Amino acid sequence: MWTGIVSIFPNLIRNTLKEGVVGRAVANGDLGVTLFDPREYAEDTHKTVDDRPFGGGPGMVMMAGPLSASVSEARRLCPSENPVTIYLSPQGTRFTQSLATKLAALPALILVAGRYEGVDERFIEREADLELSIGDYVLSGGELAAMVVLDTVARLLPGVVGNPESIKSESHMDGLLDFPHYTRPRKFGGDRVPDVLLQGDH
Ligand code: SAM
Repeated sequence: MWTGIVSIFPNLIRNTLKEGVVGRAVANGDLGVTLFDPREYAEDTHKTVDDRPFGGGPGMVMMAGPLSASVSEARRLCPSENPVTIYLSPQGTRFTQSLATKLAALPALILVAGRYEGVDERFIEREADLELSIGDYVLSGGELAAMVVLDTVARLLPGVVGNPESIKSESHMDGLLDFPHYTRPRKFGGDRVPDVLLQGDH
């Protein structure tokens, strides 16, 4: 799978791409990630990506132009046709494991992280196929939300998690939760591993 991530704080994402399951997926070539910084597509010398909201109100709004240009460049560099473009938003559809499974079947995604009060609505209307929320709370930016989506999707890609069986039995995969896990030592303080797990019958 190829992923383009649009963010004005690409370093927040870069470090996450080096570690753990996502890091391994990137290193093995199972997951390609290219970062697009809207500041590089700003039209003025100050690299402006935000402006005051029409109609007043607090905070700044990300301008549609640099975001749209970033998404166009991501689509141009995307190795497959028609990547699905997702704007991370607390107002979006709730992200779930079943949605992650559907996204993992796609060849390419473009994830767009907002900042400040959010992004110009016209950007969403023109470019986003989907608005996704990772929960009913407000983050200061979409980068962590994009990484939540990327991490969840990456571990569902074929070959990324060593034993595919471990994915099947995980929480939320089939409407149930995972079972409790134990490892050595057999006795921790006064707490013993349940006998049924020590009988050698898998
Ligand atoms: N003013 C917006 C509102 O009340 O709906 C919140 C903007 S938030 C401070 C800035 C950015 O963080 C958003 O544009 C979005 O990309 C991201 N974000 C915040 N909470 C999120 C969530 N729960 N899920 C996904 N993205 C989120």
